[in-house]
Amino acid sequence: MPTPDCDLLIIGAGCAGLSLAREIARQCGGQNTRRVILLEPRENYSNDRTWCFWQRHTEIDRALVSKSWNAWQFDTKGNTVVQQSSTDWAYHCVPAGTFYKQAQEDIEQTPSMSLLLGQTALSVNPKDTHIEIETRGGCITASQVVDTRAPSAQLASEAPLKQVFYGLELRLTEPQKNTQTARLMSNMSTDAAGFKFEYLLPLAPDRALIEITRFSPASLPSASLKDEVFEAAQTYFPNKIAEVVRHEQGVIPMGLSMAPATGDARWVRAGTSAGAVRASSGYAFQRIQRWACQEAASLLKNQPISGQKPVAGALGWMDRIFLETLTRQPELAPSLFMALAQRVPSDRLVRFLTEQPQTLDFAAIVAALPVKPMLKSLKLRHSSASQTLSGKAFE
Ligand SMILES: Cc1cc2nc3c(=O)[nH]c(=O)nc-3n(C[C@H](O)[C@H](O)[C@H](O)COP(=O)(O)OP(=O)(O)OC[C@H]3O[C@@H](n4cnc5c(N)ncnc54)[C@H](O)[C@@H]3O)c2cc1C
Repeated sequence: MPTPDCDLLIIGAGCAGLSLAREIARQCGGQNTRRVILLEPRENYSNDRTWCFWQRHTEIDRALVSKSWNAWQFDTKGNTVVQQSSTDWAYHCVPAGTFYKQAQEDIEQTPSMSLLLGQTALSVNPKDTHIEIETRGGCITASQVVDTRAPSAQLASEAPLKQVFYGLELRLTEPQKNTQTARLMSNMSTDAAGFKFEYLLPLAPDRALIEITRFSPASLPSASLKDEVFEAAQTYFPNKIAEVVRHEQGVIPMGLSMAPATGDARWVRAGTSAGAVRASSGYAFQRIQRWACQEAASLLKNQPISGQKPVAGALGWMDRIFLETLTRQPELAPSLFMALAQRVPSDRLVRFLTEQPQTLDFAAIVAALPVKPMLKSLKLRHSSASQTLSGKAFE
């Protein structure tokens, strides 16, 4: 049997695929002897998104982070404003354009790795000794496959909530007064279509990213928020918009069910379809980086790569209860987020949101949230779980 074309084939060179490749390249310092191929349908990358996340100052990748904010704000339409800040943590942003460029450079500098742009995986066929990946350019064989393709449209539409957003990066004619505070959830309100808020990042004195976000059970097209975001931009920056530099948009499924198992331990999933997205917030970038770091080390130790896993344990359980409450009672969303911002000290809240909670952080989150709606969600979860179980018993 001839040796497979590569040890690892990564389907999709977006966030998860490139993060894994970048980590392999960095951890081996260009001396990787494992042959890695990435398949990506795009011919070129563009600065199509902005990844933001909390991280301790001491832990950030300075080559990627373009701006950090030491303070962040939550406010409602009724003007209740809460600002949080921390000495250890900041909210950071990584422009996707910078990330794609650096990952491509890291791959180019590692002779055993190749990124094949303009190549789509058409099918994946596990055989006894290897896996075959069909592309329009022919068949590639691999010992292992990491599959980062998006979940199917059907699966994504079944997520209980979708985080739908449309954003504009603006160049301004005048410098902004405050560039130190990220407005994460501003003007929170609800209407017939559900919960919505504005997201405003001062990227530089004369640059801002403004987005309208909705949490919706329906699969709204993100372009449906275009008019609202232009209106909001005019309100924040009346007569001060010199240019719309670019736009970004997305629909992130929250509480996505697991994609069907591949049925082969050598073919694993990562990224959104594997549960990378945190159900309660829609954040995924940091989770993907942690997974990539761990699995690059496994590959370099000749151990099999594991797929990404959704948030588990108490944290996963709390996320699901919170998501259930937002889904069933969207009118409570502004008060739930404001309760967390007002009552949970910033370091505790950030540790919870970044999956590094200490025991007392859980207690602080539970104590901050209103008891009745959360208990209702808990009861509903239990009764639907037991119905499923009893249904299964009769199958
Ligand atoms: C606009 C936007 C902003 C976001 N902002 C944040 C944020 O601030 N913070 C945060 O934590 N999360 C954010 N997210 C959520 C999440 O981090 C991103 O969606 C992230 O890109 C998910 O990574 P991924 O690898 O799963 O998907 P992607 O990055 O989309 O990568 C999947 C790749 O698979 C490729 N592909 C598809 N089909 C095939 C095929 N058949 N063969 C080969 N390749 C294929 C695609 O072209 C794509 O490159 C954002 C999402 C969007 C859309």
